[in-house]
Amino acid sequence: MLLEPATRELNSWIEIDLDALDANVAAVRAAVGPRVEIIAVVKANAYGAGVEGIAPALERAGVERFAVVWPSEAIALRQLGVTRPIVVLGHAFPRDAAAAVLHDIILTVNSSELGRALSEAAVAQGRAAKVHVKVDSGLHRFGLDVEDAVALAGELRRSPGIEVEGLTTHMANADEADDSFAERQHAVFAVAAERLPWIPYRHTANSATALRRAELRYNGVRVGLALHGVLPPNSSSPGFRPILSLKARVARVAAVPAGEGVSYGLTWRAERPSRVALIPVGYADGWQRSHSNAGAVLIHGQRCPTAGRICMDQFLVDVTDVEGVAEGDEAVLVGHQGEACIGADEVADTAGTITWEVFAALQARLPRLYHRGGRVANVVTPPGLQIP
Ligand SMILES: *Cc1c(COP(=O)(O)O)cnc(C)c1O
Repeated sequence: MLLEPATRELNSWIEIDLDALDANVAAVRAAVGPRVEIIAVVKANAYGAGVEGIAPALERAGVERFAVVWPSEAIALRQLGVTRPIVVLGHAFPRDAAAAVLHDIILTVNSSELGRALSEAAVAQGRAAKVHVKVDSGLHRFGLDVEDAVALAGELRRSPGIEVEGLTTHMANADEADDSFAERQHAVFAVAAERLPWIPYRHTANSATALRRAELRYNGVRVGLALHGVLPPNSSSPGFRPILSLKARVARVAAVPAGEGVSYGLTWRAERPSRVALIPVGYADGWQRSHSNAGAVLIHGQRCPTAGRICMDQFLVDVTDVEGVAEGDEAVLVGHQGEACIGADEVADTAGTITWEVFAALQARLPRLYHRGGRVANVVTPPGLQIP
């Protein structure tokens, strides 16, 4: 089915361009070279793009590994049929060990307790438990300082059933104009790497680091945002294309007499006889309340400014200056319409946040349509909704 007709009966939805996703995988590959693995970071429902639709497409596009932050996200990937290695970048509890071994999931081990639980589970199940060890090189969020990381790695190496495969760290200022702190962090990581030469797989780079700092690419780069085709503000590289559009259909157009206010708090007042269009997306969908009286959506290829507060499920835009707006017309919140475009970076600026949050905030209530060559390839809908 063609994409546009498939959306006619929908209130609001996300479109994911799988051709663009392929292009982004190729663009990462071109930037980092053929010997560096692509570790696709698909935490938080693939940054709102929908992991059910994204993970199989990424596997087909040839990414070597996946990474998530929660152990449950890794199990969900296996349940979707992902067969490539999956790394859990965040904290796991000892009680996560048995399932991690069963599903062949690589945990980042942060404690002897987790190491012992993994060793016991591996022996009991007669399988190997691959693990990574994380060095805290300056972010001070997760991981161990060099001494403790070296000690834990040695302990894990001597534990039956455990294979210490990876050594990792994470950068604190990678996406800022001045990312030079990465050099200090690299120096710390390099000490750990030198003392642990027997650990074969090293990874330190997120999207910004992967694109800007060749010396930090090591064996694999952990890219999330770059696969969305939106680069961190300090990075540029050819070939990336945004994969995600957020759209809705105008639910109602109404006249507002001069002097009247609209939406909660009546914070927007009609300065002249006005018309407002109701957009069926709200903060419950991830359209932050900080868009109240800020930014715009595209209707008939024109920018229609937000009028009043964003509500939980809907908001209004001023369409007084746009001819003939009617119920059912397409409104674009993120993406293109005709020649006009509202990018995720603009949306992030308007809402006072970062593009990562704009994407990650998008909720499962929004149906997701995955398309290739202008045709719907796959649909993921919330319970209760059917797309013909
Ligand atoms: C989320 C995350 C990444 C991916 O970051 P992007 O900037 O989206 O590429 C990489 N590494 C870790 C540890 C993360 O938590």
